[in-house]
Amino acid sequence: MVDPVRFLIHGASGRMGQALLRLCTERAVECIVVAAVSRKPVQRVVDGVPQFAASELAGVPAFDVAIDFSLPEGFDPLLALCRQRGAALVSGTTGLSDSQRQALTDAAADIPVLWAANFSLGVAVLEELVERAAAALAGWDCDIVETHHVHKKDAPSGTALALGTAVGWGGATARYASLRAGDVVGEHLVQFTGIGERIELVHRATSRDVFARGALHAASRLKGREAGIWRLRDLL
Ligand code: NAD
Repeated sequence: MVDPVRFLIHGASGRMGQALLRLCTERAVECIVVAAVSRKPVQRVVDGVPQFAASELAGVPAFDVAIDFSLPEGFDPLLALCRQRGAALVSGTTGLSDSQRQALTDAAADIPVLWAANFSLGVAVLEELVERAAAALAGWDCDIVETHHVHKKDAPSGTALALGTAVGWGGATARYASLRAGDVVGEHLVQFTGIGERIELVHRATSRDVFARGALHAASRLKGREAGIWRLRDLL
């Protein structure tokens, strides 16, 4: 029998962290959560999972893969820990600075890393579609409108920026607009506008579970891989 993958969940008290913890309990044969890290946890153990504060990160038990959905301020210590322990890192935290992105690239010399702005299969397909549309529609305007819940801190969203990169690969330049409203999980509209006609490509996420499932799936497959930068499409 194969040993279960040992996960560290970073950002465990958050919306994504809670979804990850719930889904991990449904897959207890394949994976175990050895530590849950939040900025300041209120309990030491929840449902059998030891809880750690960000300031206690150095004391977490051995893990194979860290799954990080937190905030940029928690990213540097986690990356350093993964490097020190020789563990893999899967991160969906958005709003990372250029120097944090560079540090992630540097760490890939030692450990397997995967960062994705969006862990849903639908957005992976949308990226391919917008690249094709941008390549076919020279001279058309391209606008990306993203809508998220009112608690989201960064704007434009990481997914909007990733879609903009795909538009760039197709040879066009995107403009961005961001809406923060209610409890919207995540919507991305990529609109191509010509003279007298318009194409709208939309992705709507209605549950955080799509991101959590994608991240868990990728994290399970990252264990034991060679050091380097991995893409979601390599592991899905
Ligand atoms: P949230 O605000 O609900 O949760 C944030 C979590 O991070 C909390 O547990 C908090 O305690 C923890 N945290 C804050 N500062 C910390 C620190 N210094 N050290 C350790 N932990 C710290 O946020 P959320 O909605 O769960 O989203 C988390 C991140 O994931 C955001 O960056 C969001 O944009 C991103 N996200 C990415 C995807 C994707 O598919 N890539 C999907 C959804 C959300």
